[in-house]
Amino acid sequence: MLSNSLAELDRRHLIHPVSSFRGHEQRGVRILTGGQGATVTDSEGRSLIDGFAGLWCVNAGYGHESIVEAAAEQMRKLPYATGYFDLGAEAPIRLAAALAERAPGDLNHVYFTLGGSDAVDSTIRFIRYYWHAKGQPGRDQFISVANGYHGSTTMGAGLTALPGFHDGFGVPYDWQHKISSHYLYRNPLGSDPQVVTDASVAELRAKIEAIGPDRVAAFYVEPIQGSGGVLVPPQGWVKAMRDLCAEYGVLFVADEVITGFGRTGPLFACQDEGIVPDLMTTAKGLTSGYVPMGAVLMRDHVYETIADGAGAKAVGHGFTYSAHPVSAAVALEVLALYEGGLLENGRRAGARLQAGLESLRDHPLVGDVRGRGMLAAVELVVDKDAKTPLPPEVQPATRLFDRAWEQGLVVRSFAQGIFGYAPPLCCTDEQIDQIVARTRKVLDLTLEDPEIRAVL
Ligand code: PMP
Repeated sequence: MLSNSLAELDRRHLIHPVSSFRGHEQRGVRILTGGQGATVTDSEGRSLIDGFAGLWCVNAGYGHESIVEAAAEQMRKLPYATGYFDLGAEAPIRLAAALAERAPGDLNHVYFTLGGSDAVDSTIRFIRYYWHAKGQPGRDQFISVANGYHGSTTMGAGLTALPGFHDGFGVPYDWQHKISSHYLYRNPLGSDPQVVTDASVAELRAKIEAIGPDRVAAFYVEPIQGSGGVLVPPQGWVKAMRDLCAEYGVLFVADEVITGFGRTGPLFACQDEGIVPDLMTTAKGLTSGYVPMGAVLMRDHVYETIADGAGAKAVGHGFTYSAHPVSAAVALEVLALYEGGLLENGRRAGARLQAGLESLRDHPLVGDVRGRGMLAAVELVVDKDAKTPLPPEVQPATRLFDRAWEQGLVVRSFAQGIFGYAPPLCCTDEQIDQIVARTRKVLDLTLEDPEIRAVL
């Protein structure tokens, strides 16, 4: 069988991202063969609702012919143009202008990357350069938030605050610091939003003071922490942190790789908060995953400082595929689709998703439900009062993922026993209801599972 031989080739040759190499050899690959709207099909002919939009990226959904056309037309006309040597092409210029027009405040300058990790890495390089240009090269210390994810390059992985990205890799560096996460459901201070926000502000202030206010370069925030388990900060938390950074002159970076492009409702989640970061990173929904691309947006003062600092010298940061014309042409079409109705549909579907998942709270295994728009999580526990998580020995991640797959649902399944949802914005009401109904079915089956019963 074709898929069998593919599975064997996969086992022998293809290294999968963030996987247990040995675990994957045992489990093998599931091969996806097609996608349409919010559904995907696998090589066994199963049709599934993609409740995770690939990897929180296919925001527009699958099968848009107009996106295929945009890519094909650009490839036919001009498949590649470098941005080096003062060269350029139309699509990336139009895309940069379109993003600048739509981003909050004066985030007017755009640097295109290949994805989110190199966007984060680029911010670290630009920020170091910025402080040199300002005559404060000693501002070389970076702070991020526990449970945060900022990509998988060496420097970005050090800002990431998930042990799996550190252990054995020699990061974080000593210039990378963390403060506690807001994680309302499991915060030792309780779940009062004001108490948690005040504590985070106090902790960041103490951290800046301890490092030295003239040493801190930047602070990184995801408006909603994604890979850490979809952790939604209390209302006002992001703004409070932004204001504190302004007080100390610390650059505030919003990592919108997941939250951008309609995931939470507006085009950018910073708009939910009414804030303007000094720099913003995006990727994923920018091209809806059809081709790779990310972007760093910077405010006027960041751009001007770097520009003046460099003068006639080149700012030595660039990739062969920065501002790739095919990716830019795709992103422009994706943006037109978002504004042509997908953002609006996503807002409606998002409200339905949140309400639907809330209705699962009565289930004995559900400890918490949280989210905003088309981004959500359901956290499982074996004891609601004690908030006891599913123990690692029952391997919640693969167990829950497999069970959902059997029910025709793709979800993210975090190691701690958390379901993550980030469906395409094109979902119909019926598909949202199915996501909720299939999740309930998975929860019921899990409750009957003898290995789970043994730990209840
Ligand atoms: N930042 C955040 C907030 C992310 O969620 C991710 C990816 N999940 C990244 C950065 C890295 O993006 P990429 O995987 O495209 O390199």
